[in-house]
Amino acid sequence: MPCLFCKEVADTSKSIEHIIPESLGNIEHVLQPGIVCDDCNNYFAIKIEKVLLEQPYFKSLRHRNDIISKKGNYVPEKGIILHPQGGPVNVYREKNRIIVDMNEQIAGLVKSGLVNKLLIPTGELEPAPNNTILSRFLAKVSVEALLHWIKDEPFWIEEIMTKPELDDIKMYARYGKTVKFWPYHQRRIYNEEDRFLNPELQKDPYEVLHEFRFFWTKENEFYFVLAIMGIEYAINMGGPSIDSYKTWLLENNARSILEWDKEQLIKGGN
Ligand SMILES: [Zn+2]
Repeated sequence: MPCLFCKEVADTSKSIEHIIPESLGNIEHVLQPGIVCDDCNNYFAIKIEKVLLEQPYFKSLRHRNDIISKKGNYVPEKGIILHPQGGPVNVYREKNRIIVDMNEQIAGLVKSGLVNKLLIPTGELEPAPNNTILSRFLAKVSVEALLHWIKDEPFWIEEIMTKPELDDIKMYARYGKTVKFWPYHQRRIYNEEDRFLNPELQKDPYEVLHEFRFFWTKENEFYFVLAIMGIEYAINMGGPSIDSYKTWLLENNARSILEWDKEQLIKGGN
């Protein structure tokens, strides 16, 4: 079978493709080897995901939410020890405690009781706008998620692998071609600390790390809508314009297509 993105032979590829990076807490949404070739898999990992996850918002998102990196490490954030001999330190969050990585001099100050204040910035709450890396990431995720969604229908898999209608977004994701910047829509739909309740699924509130859906607007444009930790992103898979999504939002009281009838939002998780 040809690779989903570059159309070279992918049959011998060995890597499992994570639709959303493991570093954002994804273990369930993957594509089996043979769909994305090793070259493309590697390209996305290094040139898109790694760069994205190093952006200030994604770093502080992972820090704030204890999301462990692929290598099993917690993501540090900079804190400041408020003392003339203090200065910047790495701060790690781990379950219910905060770990401060400090040198001997600062440790000495803390032990002597001279220092008892540590400043930790809240960090960025939204990704930087007009973000090409984020846009190419969304393009990649949309194509892979579509394939994952219809994974039990051989006819549709063939369509998605070979149909030229998706070539533009695939080329944009993989090579940055088609257009310089493929626009997407971004907004917060709930807060990171919010939890959800659906008694039909389970009795306790749960956290949603990410979720996605596809839908058609009445102009027949096909959208991929993804939420990661409360921020909703929407991208038009057929072309670089989000006008019909803005119209859809106006006509639907700005609700999110990701909202399910039976799911209840619990503010702050309490
Ligand atoms: Zn490939």
